[in-house]
Amino acid sequence: MPNGGPDCCGNCSHNKAVQIMAHPHPEQPDKFWQLSHCTLRDVRITKPFWTYCSNFTYGKTPEARNREESPRGWITASGLYEGYVRIPWDENREPRVSVPATCSICGRKTDNGIEVDHDGDVLGFCTNRHYVEWWVTIHRDNSFRPEDFESPETRYKAD
Ligand code: SF4
Ligand SMILES: [Zn+2]
Repeated sequence: MPNGGPDCCGNCSHNKAVQIMAHPHPEQPDKFWQLSHCTLRDVRITKPFWTYCSNFTYGKTPEARNREESPRGWITASGLYEGYVRIPWDENREPRVSVPATCSICGRKTDNGIEVDHDGDVLGFCTNRHYVEWWVTIHRDNSFRPEDFESPETRYKAD
């Protein structure tokens, strides 16, 4: 399912904003975003319509949600656009996408990279692939594979 699809925190029963407001209201442009917080994982959700996880439960009747279910898998963010892709958070730390960064893997500087806070450092990445390459070394989890993402050689071939 593409990013921006319906299976996002912005439509999920576990999001406090959905529980209180159901959906954004034009007359309160910021309130839905301010309230967005996952009550299952106890984590702030800064981009509710571009954040996802396997516990998504459609929010029509949030009062009927299963408050006892265990978190399954990783929260994911929308990665740098190479077609719609999702990249995992670093535990409860959200990667910042489309920001200036110097890549921790290859040293490339870019105005349109990824950053994440980790162990007191700010780590930068040139591509989804190099972010995921780093992520796999930290989390030892093969549910995301670097080779599924665009290589820096392809992404920057016009440079
Ligand atoms: S992180 Fe998962 S469970 Fe929490 S609000 Fe988002 S989709 Fe729902
Ligand atoms: Zn890189």
